[in-house]
Amino acid sequence: MKSIAIISIALFAYANVFFQESLAEENPEVPAYSLKSSQLETAQGLIDTALESDLAHKIVESLTTEVGARLGGSEAEKRARDWGMKLGKKLSFDRVSVEEFTMPYWERGKLNISLTAPYEQKLYGTALGGSASTREDLDAPVVYFRSVNDILEIEPGSLTGKIAFIDGEIMVKSQTGAGYGPANTRRTVGWQHAERGGAVALVVRSVGSDSHRFPHTGMMRHKEGTWASIPVIAVSNPDADHVRRLHRLGEKLSISLSSTAEWKGDVSSGNVILDLVGRDKPEEIVLIGGHLDSWDLGTGAIDDGAGVAITTAAAELIARLPKRPRRTIRVVMFGAEEVGLLGAKAYAKQHADEAENHVLATESDFGAGTIWKFDSNVNSAANPAIDEIGKLLSQLGIVRGGNDVKGGGPDIIPLVELGVPTVRLNQNGMDYFDLHHTPDDTLDKIIPEELAQNVAAYAALVYLAAELDVEFRTSDKETGETTSK
Ligand SMILES: [Zn+2]
Repeated sequence: MKSIAIISIALFAYANVFFQESLAEENPEVPAYSLKSSQLETAQGLIDTALESDLAHKIVESLTTEVGARLGGSEAEKRARDWGMKLGKKLSFDRVSVEEFTMPYWERGKLNISLTAPYEQKLYGTALGGSASTREDLDAPVVYFRSVNDILEIEPGSLTGKIAFIDGEIMVKSQTGAGYGPANTRRTVGWQHAERGGAVALVVRSVGSDSHRFPHTGMMRHKEGTWASIPVIAVSNPDADHVRRLHRLGEKLSISLSSTAEWKGDVSSGNVILDLVGRDKPEEIVLIGGHLDSWDLGTGAIDDGAGVAITTAAAELIARLPKRPRRTIRVVMFGAEEVGLLGAKAYAKQHADEAENHVLATESDFGAGTIWKFDSNVNSAANPAIDEIGKLLSQLGIVRGGNDVKGGGPDIIPLVELGVPTVRLNQNGMDYFDLHHTPDDTLDKIIPEELAQNVAAYAALVYLAAELDVEFRTSDKETGETTSK
């Protein structure tokens, strides 16, 4: 099955490359771009070396084992920053630093949740990020909502003294993770409606594609800076199925609940920054990275130890070349992503006056699965060069997507808002939401060969982005000028 999939991906990649070539031929306004043979040789060497290297796996093993779970703002996240600094110094980076920022800190605390009617049964749940504690132990009747849409119009006071339960569907598995956004609404804003209805707590079906009894945590969204004043708990998919069946039987349900989740005030977090200083244009930055923080239930192997490891290993392989590429390559290990992109926002703020110098940015934050598609959003005159990189990546089973795909990952969003061009290496996310934000996000889920394919793609892409004399910036550069000379 796997070889058939790889062959069909490769055929698709070939067809895609062919299509791109014919497009370029038919469009005389976009001149073709050709890579120098020395650049191609170097990029090919990086691919070959990366496929044989276990460096990324060693990095993610070290992070998940020596640091473990590392919730944004926690003491563990501080240890992760120390780990990142130490790693950067041990490897070949020219500059290693931490940029600190202040953030509000939320802690999960302890939880007990059970059905108490029609009979006693333990439920497997976890608090959602930003949840309040139960001031006293609760045992209250349940009002069942088939989906989040059914609670949106709830009348104020109609849930007084009740626990709202929002069901929904198990997320459909897909390569792109397309089902996440819609499913996520019950997690992000469900609380606002339950709270308006006067509920004493909200319980939701986890946002995940698995059938295991692990709940999926994740951040809620605040409303004008205000967080939930009630406890909000996600239960596992099989527990939600159970509640649904009892409800269909017409049973009156009750749930008992105690939770000590709470906000702890302001703490310090930070972004770890590792630079390979460019030999010719040190002020111009190609930014890559992942997020250093994780949720606290697993050890953050796929989310996002893998991304940190892939991008750090790719930069390290480039650092071992005889000379530095023209531009600076910057690896950012972003802090506090899960709890609201806080590290990304802090980075964009701290570097706003040099946003113009960020020539290209991308993040690896979708697990450790094989990369299958390469998207970009660069100056259209720079697109032929990106297509050439795409052709090189096709040997890894990666198809060239479009140049109209904005966004290089969650932590890149604030940089996109500052006009920074992006590329994206899309990973196969078919199994990602089985593990995402659960206790099951652990090192054993990472397949070393797939991780190495990621490093190969990043190393070749990032090397060429830093080496080529191409201006990627989109804003007011749509003049047909390809180079920055
Ligand atoms: Zn992530």
